[in-house]
Amino acid sequence: MKTDSFRQTTASISTSAIEQNARAFHSHLSPGSSLMAVVKANGYGHGAVEAAEAALRGGAESLGVAILDEAVALRKAGITVPLLVMGHTAPESMQTAADHDIALTIFADDARDEALRIAASGQRIRIHLKIETGMGRIGITTKEQLLAIAVPLFKAENVALDGMFTHFAEADTPSSPYTDEQFARFQAMAAALDEAGIAIPVKHCCNSAGTMLHPDKHLDMVRVGISLYGLRPDPDMPLAFPLEQAMTLTSQIVSIRRLDAGHTISYGRTHTLTEPRDIATLPIGYADGLPRLASNQATVTVNGQEAPLVGRVCMDQTMIDVTGLDVRVYDHVTFSIDQLAELTGTINYEIVCGVSPRVPRVYE
Ligand code: PLP
Repeated sequence: MKTDSFRQTTASISTSAIEQNARAFHSHLSPGSSLMAVVKANGYGHGAVEAAEAALRGGAESLGVAILDEAVALRKAGITVPLLVMGHTAPESMQTAADHDIALTIFADDARDEALRIAASGQRIRIHLKIETGMGRIGITTKEQLLAIAVPLFKAENVALDGMFTHFAEADTPSSPYTDEQFARFQAMAAALDEAGIAIPVKHCCNSAGTMLHPDKHLDMVRVGISLYGLRPDPDMPLAFPLEQAMTLTSQIVSIRRLDAGHTISYGRTHTLTEPRDIATLPIGYADGLPRLASNQATVTVNGQEAPLVGRVCMDQTMIDVTGLDVRVYDHVTFSIDQLAELTGTINYEIVCGVSPRVPRVYE
């Protein structure tokens, strides 16, 4: 597909891979569970609307985002399926969520009071309660607090108490008992609401790793992010079924020059040629999301061959050593997202989210 960009660096996005991954998750769900596609952070860098549409074609029934702006943008793009903002929303913004029929996550009294005010004005507001079970991030911590928030919401007309959820801290580590412990704490909180006669239609806990490794915890819905895009939540995590990677980060060789022994490459002169070498230049740099920490470490694939990055990654350009390889100017090179993550001490999530807006997404 064509873009308006003149760049030789692109992130190709296979929407059919996203659709296929969604379908794979959907077919592995426990009976009665539905699939929420997590498309926060511009669909983990893949494009929120395109990722959402592909996931919905693959069987997702709802979408999760981190912040209200992302949810409003999806509504403005014409997406009508249920949307949940999974992070904190300031009480003064909650009216906007109600106006767009966007469900909000609530875990504090001020948000409860604002939900009650909106509902009292005659407008419906959708709520999911967030339960803290061990992530140490956001959520209701005690049964008393849970009831103090849930009971008035449950009693109020126009409040749709649609869901309650928690988030696992270590679901990608099969040997860890922590996920079971978190789940037990969540179930105890759910039981407290049950006992109070408060029925919650959609209870949900699992992220990608939880969905793959903990089929006993799918409950009414799972929230799948990273693996929707075909990436492993953790390099060591076994996959329950195959995934297809959706993003391919590519650049193009724009120059190849033979440089003499003793020549140094890039800022700080961290790479010195010990013999004459063919050095190729790529128009991609850290302003595109190629981590500078990958300097002198990462490799690219060009015509099926491996070439190392040499010298420091610049803001807009990077050099590779192509000596002895079968390459020409304008050949395409491909980066490995997982390799970039490993070499720079981070996770693939950060690499795909970090592909900057100036890299055109080309949808296939
Ligand atoms: N649910 C919540 C609350 C999240 O914050 C995230 C992402 O961090 C997800 C689900 C999706 O997680 P993953 O990308 O690991 O599938």
